[in-house]
Amino acid sequence: MRDDKVTNAVVQINTGMANVFLIRGGAGYILVDTGNPGKEDLVLEQLKEHGVAPDDIRLILITHGHVDHFGSAAALRELTSAPVAIHTLDGDAMRQGIHQPDSLKPTGKLMAFLRRIPALQNKVVPEAAPACEPDVVFEEEWRLDDYGIAGRVLLTPGHTPGSVSLLLDGGEAVVGDVVMGKLMGLIRKPGPPLVAWDLERNWQSLRRLLALSPRVVYVGHGGPFDDLAALAKLGTARG
Ligand SMILES: [Zn+2]
Ligand SMILES: [Zn+2]
Repeated sequence: MRDDKVTNAVVQINTGMANVFLIRGGAGYILVDTGNPGKEDLVLEQLKEHGVAPDDIRLILITHGHVDHFGSAAALRELTSAPVAIHTLDGDAMRQGIHQPDSLKPTGKLMAFLRRIPALQNKVVPEAAPACEPDVVFEEEWRLDDYGIAGRVLLTPGHTPGSVSLLLDGGEAVVGDVVMGKLMGLIRKPGPPLVAWDLERNWQSLRRLLALSPRVVYVGHGGPFDDLAALAKLGTARG
């Protein structure tokens, strides 16, 4: 149930390629995703600008096992002492510092094109990141109250097998790459993820998310989006 008294706030931190999110709850802060490798200093600078010290961070939640999302997880854990959490099905990718291997099928022409130019593709998303052994692996949906956040982690598979989203009780959703926003200025409208493990499952996940009536949807690249009708169209046109 939505509770309008809940004062969660989402700060979107642009790290160049991928967004990192600082979530402020009633009783603590967490990070969602960490960007490409080497983004830790930039993230800490941004936290400082928002008056947040490294050891204020109580959890680092990774939406899925792609290098542009967990790339700085090991470094940020070191700097914040916060545990890193990821769904069990994407855990091995982060342990090995590689993209979840079943989730690299291009969904459209742009990624197929990038694949043919490895140097360009590697510039967009590196192939590898420092390995990060997760501190918390989970299979089921869970609430984040223990970390000071009024919200829950939802299972939203499709982009990868272990993709998850965060839905705050105040109505903000942080959905990783279930929906793609802007990438290198090439895509500006909400669109399908560039690669997917199972695109149909991804759209099912999007429909389930939208049925929970989020107020605003934050995505891993570009965004955020508050035109839920446009997002709904995306989910049905392709599903
Ligand atoms: Zn991804
Ligand atoms: Zn991504």
